[in-house]
Amino acid sequence: LSYDDKFEEINYCSELQKSAINEITKEFEINNKKLNEIIEHFRNEMNKGLTKHGQTVAMVPSYVTGVPTGKEVGTFLALDLGGTNLRVCQINLEGGGKISVKQQKYKISDSHKTGEARHLFDFIAECVDKFLVEFNIDCNSTRRLNLGFTFSFPVEQTAIDKGTLISWTKGFSASGAAGKDVVFLLQESLNRKEVPVKVSALVNDTVGTLLAHAYKYPNTLLGVIFGTGTNGAYFEKISNIKKLQSISSNADHMIINVEWGAFDNEKKVLPLTMFDNKLDRNSINPRLQIFEKTISGMYLGEITRNVLLNLIDRSLLFNGYSSKDLNDHYSFETEYMSSIEKDDTSTLETVKQILEESLNLPSTTLTDRQIVKRICQLVGFRAARLSSAALSAIISHCNVIESGCNIGIDGSLFLFYPGFKERIMNSLKELFGPNADKIELGLALDGSGVGAGN
Ligand code: BGC
Ligand code: MG
Repeated sequence: LSYDDKFEEINYCSELQKSAINEITKEFEINNKKLNEIIEHFRNEMNKGLTKHGQTVAMVPSYVTGVPTGKEVGTFLALDLGGTNLRVCQINLEGGGKISVKQQKYKISDSHKTGEARHLFDFIAECVDKFLVEFNIDCNSTRRLNLGFTFSFPVEQTAIDKGTLISWTKGFSASGAAGKDVVFLLQESLNRKEVPVKVSALVNDTVGTLLAHAYKYPNTLLGVIFGTGTNGAYFEKISNIKKLQSISSNADHMIINVEWGAFDNEKKVLPLTMFDNKLDRNSINPRLQIFEKTISGMYLGEITRNVLLNLIDRSLLFNGYSSKDLNDHYSFETEYMSSIEKDDTSTLETVKQILEESLNLPSTTLTDRQIVKRICQLVGFRAARLSSAALSAIISHCNVIESGCNIGIDGSLFLFYPGFKERIMNSLKELFGPNADKIELGLALDGSGVGAGN
């Protein structure tokens, strides 16, 4: 199948436009042969990461060996430092798979994201303090509350409550944190502000997602985030984690945080276009998180913008005109893509509105709008194809093609991008045939908060 079979026809004005779109379509297309090549490389990289520390795909041991049974009870605090917001939660596990949550969101400013790490962690401690006061939570210096810290960035973890930051991702760059233990940094800030809380667990958001989903569905193998960033965590046999020296547990599985965002940082197998490479070159973390940059919500709009600008510069779109807004980096939001893909009016009214009102482009033609929609579809479709490659690699690695499994997924892309799940599912069907029906892609709501509580 080529993309032209799946997407609406464009009423081209010129042959030049037509051939340009065909050429771009080919660049974004990933046939099954290529997809299988990517999957094979992915599996090799996973094995490398399980064998040795410091590999591209980090395969971080989470030191979480227990699977929640749904019978757990207790009260915990959870802190979720994700891509966009900081969330503080109080979580009550009531047993029988029942959970109640109180939570508060705090916006992280750009200056906290990109300033000094100490200021970022002080800000986080202040938010925890505010939360305890606001919700009147009972704790003091002799009765400190335990806090699970969901930290959605790559860390090299050495214990359940210890892990050093490998590198920031998703637009964060706060100085003085890389190479440091983030639990220690947070605890120091809490102590400095005399907040009676002990950071007792550090978990990646994917690990939290996996735990939260497994709490409800015992057949869960994999927890995934398709949001601002992307990543997954799964249950691995401890005997397969060759790099792990010794662990004082008689469990036979441990959750591995794959950190797949960094897959193919070497740019060996991904079919990257000039639009991807331009995005990477201009990013604050060039040559890092290459896989993530083809999939996650932080980047899809920017890839699309790069394609649109290229067509404008060739005078094949908007009659060669851009706007000040469209010229700005990251001005074409991934949210626009969702709305544009959803627009099935014959005149593409939503597309028109976004282009002419949000992005201040001069009056557009239907052809312009159809081309913009097609570019969004190509970028969104490729993201889903590549996402399916990551899922397939792990499903194959864990040998559950025959038996099937549950996958718990969270994140804005999965929640809001139209057709994202269906596209992944279709791709899995092409890869696994009828066995794909035994793969359950489920929404793992509030994984980041609840999982840390576990
Ligand atoms: C981070 C992961 C995280 C993912 C989803 C990536 O940028 O490296 O640790 O799980 O985003 O939030
Ligand atoms: Mg999150």
